[in-house]
Amino acid sequence: MRAARLLLLLPWLILVATLGATWFVWDHERQNAHKELHSQFDFALRDTVSRIEQRVAAYEQLLRGVQGLLATSGLTNRAAIRDYIETLRLDVNFSGIQVIGVVEQIPQSRKDAHVAAIRRLGFADYSIHPEGEREIYAPIIQRESYVGSNDAPLGFDAWSDPVRRLAMEKARDSDMAAITGKVRLTIDKDATNNPGFIMYLPLFAQAQPRDSITQRRASLIGWVYAAFHMSDFMAGLYGKQADGLALAIYDDTTPSAATLMHRNGNSAGGAISANEYMVVAGHTWMLTVATQNEFETRFGRNIALIIAVTGIGLSLSMALLAWFMINGRARALLLAAEMTEELRHMAQHDALTGLPNRALFSDRVQNTLAYAKRHDTRFAIIFLDLDKFKPVNDNYGHSVGDLLLQQVAKRLQDSIRASDTVGRIGGDEFVLLLGELVGADAALALAEKIRLEIRRPYRIDGHELAISCSLGIAIYPDDGADELTLAKSADEAMYRAKEGGRDSVRSSGDRCESPGNCA
Ligand code: GH3
Ligand code: MG
Repeated sequence: MRAARLLLLLPWLILVATLGATWFVWDHERQNAHKELHSQFDFALRDTVSRIEQRVAAYEQLLRGVQGLLATSGLTNRAAIRDYIETLRLDVNFSGIQVIGVVEQIPQSRKDAHVAAIRRLGFADYSIHPEGEREIYAPIIQRESYVGSNDAPLGFDAWSDPVRRLAMEKARDSDMAAITGKVRLTIDKDATNNPGFIMYLPLFAQAQPRDSITQRRASLIGWVYAAFHMSDFMAGLYGKQADGLALAIYDDTTPSAATLMHRNGNSAGGAISANEYMVVAGHTWMLTVATQNEFETRFGRNIALIIAVTGIGLSLSMALLAWFMINGRARALLLAAEMTEELRHMAQHDALTGLPNRALFSDRVQNTLAYAKRHDTRFAIIFLDLDKFKPVNDNYGHSVGDLLLQQVAKRLQDSIRASDTVGRIGGDEFVLLLGELVGADAALALAEKIRLEIRRPYRIDGHELAISCSLGIAIYPDDGADELTLAKSADEAMYRAKEGGRDSVRSSGDRCESPGNCA
């Protein structure tokens, strides 16, 4: 019973176990997918940083070329500078550069001479601006532009702008390329929000020592620079759009509207985002990068969902299968039990009348005998054989004979107590077991009652039939102390009833030959 109840739990155990396994696999895959997406993101971030670094390095190399030219040709050889820059084909090879220009360093003492000299070159209204007296000026004296117009006046004093000046000083002191923070380029006359930056390389007087900062400061004569729009610089980096990544670049380390240099996409959202600091030509930029839907669908794996759906489906199917198998087994066991019971009944009963057969009757006699021996009680066995039954078969057919046997069986059954037994032991032969007799005459009285009951007419298949029977009684312990002796006594008494003319009752103890003596 316990095992059966445990068996009924099995489908649930299977369901829990398979759902657990599904969860495990699903979680594993989810984590893997997460890791995979992260590593793709890290790669894309490193790729972006390295593209920027490489591009800046390429611009620095380009500017080194101009620096070299100026070192030999001098700052004011305008034609040579223009020719050289033209040969570089900036628009094709170095997209992103707006301007390459030259800045000369002018101490206050040389300001007027410088302005006069530039005016003599053909720039009649050349002046240094913003105006005002300053110790050092660093006016733009030549500007070669490749994109848009180039009609901004020369003479802008880059030194007057702290952002430019910081980069210029850095370049001068390090003899390296240095870029500015976020600036508005002088070619952008209106205040459109088009953030830019400028890269400076220092120009030193020829044949002067420049190994230390002091020497470099002493021999500095100006700068060559390249000016960039951040948007063009970034466009040149990738073509159009960083693949599925939102990117924002801030000047220095604090992200704000004022420091924002460039933005594409919404770098605030996204499943994964990161901030990265990078030092570009001596200047720090902060990159904020975040994945966009496009990135997540391109590199994300959707197997987790498939695993979850399939796993749950399989779990339910297996649990259902187990449930069906177990219930099917339970049904089979029930059927087997029912069949066993039916076989047992068949083995112990007569198929035609349903009465106990000889085997079961014998069992009951044995039980009653044991009880009677223990409690010193009496019981009776009665043999009953129908008189002249054969002619019924002969006259009305075997099936009518069968129906008559069934009705006789019913009448016998109805004549006895529930605790007594009537059985069929042969063709038209019945036996009765009457337990616990109150008196010796009780058996005789019952046998008489049965004889009369059997005599009552029968209606079968439209025929009115009549039959009688002969009965023989044996009493325990008077007529036998065991089953066999008792059966033999009852059978002999019954035969005496037949011999005496049938339709009568005989007791075993009563051995008179004629009915008269036996009254
Ligand atoms: P008697 O008074 O001497 O008993 O005569 P009887 O015709 O009853 O003869 P007996 O008891 O010797 O024979 C019983 C007959 O019952 C024999 C057989 O043809 C018939 N018979 C036995 N079993 C069945 C049965 O299951 N169905 C039917 N219809 N007849 C049966
Ligand atoms: Mg008979």
